[in-house]
Amino acid sequence: MKESMKNGLIRGVVAALASLALLGCLMWMEGNLNPANQSQQSTAAVSESAVPAVAQAEPISADADAAGGFLPGTYTGTANGFGGPVEVAVTIGENGGVADAVITGQGETPDVGGAAIPELRNQLLTAQSADIDGVSGASFTSGAVKEAAAAALALAAGEEVETGPKAEGDNLFIPGTYSASSKGFGGDVEVTVTVSENAIEDIQITGDHETENIGSFAVSMLGERIMDAQSPNVDALSGATVTSSAIFRALQQALTQAGADLTRFPAPEKADANAPKSEESLECDICIIGAGGAGMTAAIHATQAGKNVILLEMMPYVGGNTTKATGGMNAAETHYQAEQGIEDSVEVFIEDTMEGGHQLNDRDLVTVMAENSAEAIDWLDSIGAPLPKVSFSGGATNKRIHAPEDGSGVGAYLVTHFLQKVEELGINVMYDTRATELITDDGAVTGVKAESSTVSYTINAKAVIIATGGFGNNQDMIVQYRPDLKGTVSTSAPGAMGDGIVMAQAVGADLVDIDQIQLHPTVEQGTSMLITESVRGDGAILVNQEGKRFTNELLTRDKVSAAELEQTGGYAYIIFDQRLRDGLKAIEKYVSTGITVQADTIEGLAEQIGCDPATLAETLESWNQAVAAQKDEAFGRDTGMENDLSVAPYYAIKIAPGIHHTMGGVKINTEAQVIDTDGNPIPGLFAAGEVTGGVHGGNRIGGNAVADIVVFGTVASESAVAWCDR
Ligand code: ADP
Repeated sequence: MKESMKNGLIRGVVAALASLALLGCLMWMEGNLNPANQSQQSTAAVSESAVPAVAQAEPISADADAAGGFLPGTYTGTANGFGGPVEVAVTIGENGGVADAVITGQGETPDVGGAAIPELRNQLLTAQSADIDGVSGASFTSGAVKEAAAAALALAAGEEVETGPKAEGDNLFIPGTYSASSKGFGGDVEVTVTVSENAIEDIQITGDHETENIGSFAVSMLGERIMDAQSPNVDALSGATVTSSAIFRALQQALTQAGADLTRFPAPEKADANAPKSEESLECDICIIGAGGAGMTAAIHATQAGKNVILLEMMPYVGGNTTKATGGMNAAETHYQAEQGIEDSVEVFIEDTMEGGHQLNDRDLVTVMAENSAEAIDWLDSIGAPLPKVSFSGGATNKRIHAPEDGSGVGAYLVTHFLQKVEELGINVMYDTRATELITDDGAVTGVKAESSTVSYTINAKAVIIATGGFGNNQDMIVQYRPDLKGTVSTSAPGAMGDGIVMAQAVGADLVDIDQIQLHPTVEQGTSMLITESVRGDGAILVNQEGKRFTNELLTRDKVSAAELEQTGGYAYIIFDQRLRDGLKAIEKYVSTGITVQADTIEGLAEQIGCDPATLAETLESWNQAVAAQKDEAFGRDTGMENDLSVAPYYAIKIAPGIHHTMGGVKINTEAQVIDTDGNPIPGLFAAGEVTGGVHGGNRIGGNAVADIVVFGTVASESAVAWCDR
C-alpha cells in the first residue's frame, strides 16, 4: 500500500494492526457499511501491506452527505480469498457514488475465482454497495470480495472504529478470557484466549471443519507458535492459509476485546530470502522423506527396530494426503472380520483389487498388500489406533473396509495416532524441510540433500525411503503426463508436488502407470472441496445444466467423471433434499462453506442454478418414481435408493471432476526397493505409498490407499533396516 490516510477526512483512528505473514496487517472495524442499509454490521480484515495503514485515500471533498453517501476518494479493503488476500480498491466519485473498483486476487484459482472477478466488479458497481450476490462456484472469492468491499466502503463512509476498553498503563491486556470467531475453510473457527496483564496464558482453537482438512495438530501447532511468540503476529501455516487467516482474525478480535493495542506487537521475523544459507551435515541410519501415512509408518517401524531415523517433512505439519482419507482401510482375514462373522479371503481381496484396477495392477504388489493387510490391522491395534468397524465399500465383494469405531475419518485418525507414536519414540521430524536431491555413491543411494528456509542440509544415511506422496498438486507434472487434465482442480494436499518421483528418476528409477490419475467426480471447483460419495450413496442425483440426469450416479469414479465431462460445460449439479441433509453430517460443512444453493421448491432450485424449472421438476419426479418402484429404468442405478428426494428445502452443489489420487509413480518390487529402468533395484533406495505405482493399476478402489501406505510403509522399513544390517 502506497500511503496511509492523509488527513482527517476519515474520522476516527483506524486501529492499524501489525503485519501478519500472509495477510499483511489486519484491522477490525465495526460499523455501518452501507448507507442504504444502516443496520448492517461487519467485521473485516483490511490492507495487505506490512505498513500499518488501511486505506488508499485521496479524498477530494469532506462532504460525506454527497449524493451516494460516500466520501470521494479511493479506499482499499482486503480479505482472504481462496488462495490468499483479495484486495478491493473502490474509487468514490464527486457525487459520493462508487465510480470504479479494482479487484485483485493473485492467489485465486484462475479458472474459478479469478474468472469471477470481472463479474464481481460489475456487481459491485451496479449495487453501489458490498451487498452483492457473488458468483456461484466461486464462493470463497465472492465472499472475500464482499468482505473487502465492505471494509473499503466503511472507510469511504467515514466510519469510526470501535476500539473498546484499553488495557491500563503499560499493560498489554485486561486479564480475563475472551473468545471470538471467524469464518474458516468450512465454517467458523473459534479462538478463546486467556490473558494476564502482560502475557497470553492460554489459547484454545476450535473448528471441526478445519481440523478435518489439515489435521488438529496443524491447528494446535499454530496455537503453539502464538504462545511461543506471545504475539498474534506469527507465520501462517503454509498450505493452510484459509484456516490460519481465520485463526488470526479471531485471535486479533479476542485480543482487541482484551484491551490490547495490536500495534504494540512486533511484526513476525521474516527470513531474508537473499541471505546465504548455512550448511549442515547430519548422519542417520535411515532418512525417510515425507511424513504422511507411509513415511510415519516406516519411521515408527524402523525406530522400533533400533534404527536412528530422520523424517523430513516439507510442510510445517505431518499428514499429507493421508489426513484427507475418509473411508477406511481394506484388509482381509482380520480378527475383526472373524469376530463379526464376516467371511473374506486374501484371494478375493486380490481379485477385487485387480478387477477394480482394470487388471493393470502389478499382481505381485497387490498380493503383498492383501497378504499383509490383517497383520497391518494388528499393528495398528498395537500402537493404539484400532480400526474395528468393518463394512462394505465400492468394489469389494465382502465387508472389508476397516474404520475407526467412532465414525471419524480414517486419515486424520491414523495421522493423529502415528504422530503420537512418532513423538513418543522421539523420532527426529524435521518440519519445513524439503528434500531436493538424493546423494549417491557408486550407484547406491547414501543420503539426501534438503533445504529449510535457513539451512542447506546434507543428510548422510545408510538407506533412504521415499514417501513423498503423489503429484496431484503439481500442475506441470499433471500436464506433462496427462495434457487432457490441464486446469483440473485437485483435492491433493499442498505437499503432493511429485518431488519423490523427480528425485528418484534423477538416480535412474523407472516409473509405472504414471498417466493413471484418479478423478473424483464430485469436487466443488471454487474450493476444491470433495463432496463425499456418501451424498450419492444416501440418495443424491446428478443433473446437467439442462436439468437432466445423465448417468448412474454410483458407477465407479472414473465412469461418473467421464460422464460429467461429456455434459455441457463439463460439470453437473448434485441435488439432494433436507432429509438427506439431516442424515449426513458432512453436508453441514458444505452448507457452512457456502457452496450449496437451496430453495423451498424444485422450481426455485432450478432458477438458482439457471436451468429450466419444468425440466428439473420432471427429472425429480421421474427419479422419485424410480425410487418408489426400486427400479431406475433410465440408468440402471440400484443402490442409494432408500429414500426419494421430496423433503424441502432442496439443495444443489455445482461440481465437476477433480484430481484425487495419482495412481502411478516410482516402480518398486515386493520388497519396496526402487527399480531402475534396467529392471534392477537401486541399492539403498526404497519407496512406499502414493509415490509408487503398480498397486492400484488403472483405478484405485476405496480403502486401498490406506492399506497401501500401512503395508508398504512397513515393508519399506523392514527392507531398509535389513539393508542397514547387511
Ligand atoms: P502417503 O499417503 O503416500 O503417505 P501423503 O501425501 O500422505 O502420502 O504424505 C506425503 C508427505 O510427504 C506429505 O506430508 C508431504 O508434505 C511430504 N513431502 C512431499 N514432498 C516432500 C519433500 N520433497 N520433502 C519433504 N517432504 C515432502
